[in-house]
Amino acid sequence: MLTGRKYRLDLTPGQDDLAERIGGACRSVWNTGLEQRRIYRRRGGWIGYHDQARQLVEAKGEFEWLAEVPGHCLQQTLIDLDQACAEHGTWKVRWKSKVNNPPSFRFPEGGKIAIERLNRRWARAKLPKLGWVRFRITRPLGGTVKNATVSRDGKHWYISFLVEDGITPPVRHAHPGSGVGIDRGVVKVVTRSDGRFHHQVFARDREVEHAKKLQRDFARTTKGSARRKRAAGRVADLARKVRRRREDFAAKTAHSLAIGFELVVFEALATKNMTAGVEPRPDPERSGAFLLNGAASKSGLNRSILDKGWHRIEVAIRSKARYTGTRVITVSPAYTSQTCNVCTVVDRKSRKSQAVFWCTSCGHTEDADVNAAKNILTAGRAEPAQPRPGVRAGARKPRTRVGRKAPPSNSHRADGARTGRNPLI
Ligand SMILES: [Zn+2]
Repeated sequence: MLTGRKYRLDLTPGQDDLAERIGGACRSVWNTGLEQRRIYRRRGGWIGYHDQARQLVEAKGEFEWLAEVPGHCLQQTLIDLDQACAEHGTWKVRWKSKVNNPPSFRFPEGGKIAIERLNRRWARAKLPKLGWVRFRITRPLGGTVKNATVSRDGKHWYISFLVEDGITPPVRHAHPGSGVGIDRGVVKVVTRSDGRFHHQVFARDREVEHAKKLQRDFARTTKGSARRKRAAGRVADLARKVRRRREDFAAKTAHSLAIGFELVVFEALATKNMTAGVEPRPDPERSGAFLLNGAASKSGLNRSILDKGWHRIEVAIRSKARYTGTRVITVSPAYTSQTCNVCTVVDRKSRKSQAVFWCTSCGHTEDADVNAAKNILTAGRAEPAQPRPGVRAGARKPRTRVGRKAPPSNSHRADGARTGRNPLI
């Protein structure tokens, strides 16, 4: 299976400068290529990867700053641009700005990258133009390298290898029939249907206060000044620290869930509402000005510091699930927090508080999140089984319920109570 390995690089000052220039050139090629595509489109024409790649070769003869960087990285940028435009449309693909897009470039031919282990801690890889780059080998590569991406995150440079590890997906999970429902919340990050939970505070109160202060400091600096750059660096450092904790938590949670369960059910998140920006509202009194619309609270600080990383957990478990044979599905979040898991009655009033669920119909009392997680699992179990990617279609018969009478419409409650399971279909 394809997997990733990321290591921190230890570049010499010369390599550091060159890497920065390669990243800059790739960004510039991306933006120029996108601009060109848009110009063509405006005129009713079209330009694709092959024409752009040919023009890039010509441009390299003219510009020294293009000639000094590895051609493969520039070509790869055009390929990425081509794919982005095909997927999202030329008008939706974004420019890469120097501020918001830290340098990153890929060497597509992994087979040609020589990798040597120097000692227990260090290894080196030979990259075109950059030469031998040293990196801290914190875990074995464990496979053949398909490509390598060099990127900067704050002060440090990293190298990520795409590796084919030669492991094949398991036919069946180690615990057949096991399943867990996951309720994602704010008080506890992850609550499981078996009553256990995974929780971590990613940013302590003190750190949130500190982040606000750093943000204020940043706002007081003038654009383009050295102080502004330093202030932005401090904000980013703190955000990075918090992000690492979140990544670590997501990886550990994903590991424990994928190892333990054959079926993991999440509720589908309305990520669009959560991450989308707020529509600007023009101020009718002043032309060109905008009313306060809460956009600031949705961006920046909130996203980087207060985010719980629910989506990341889901991505992590999907990746981990390939190795354990776990099936990950999402179900509609509708009514999962208002439905009693014992008698299946839906009542908004059953949710007594953030923490307590107390069924108005049968009196069942439970932690509100655990009740929701159980409903999520029930809904997930009711979903028809889909063949896993990598498993040959038809290799496993989908389970169908045959020979069971459909319950009469008014026996919905009785059925749930008798079997102890919530149909919730
Ligand atoms: Zn009930």
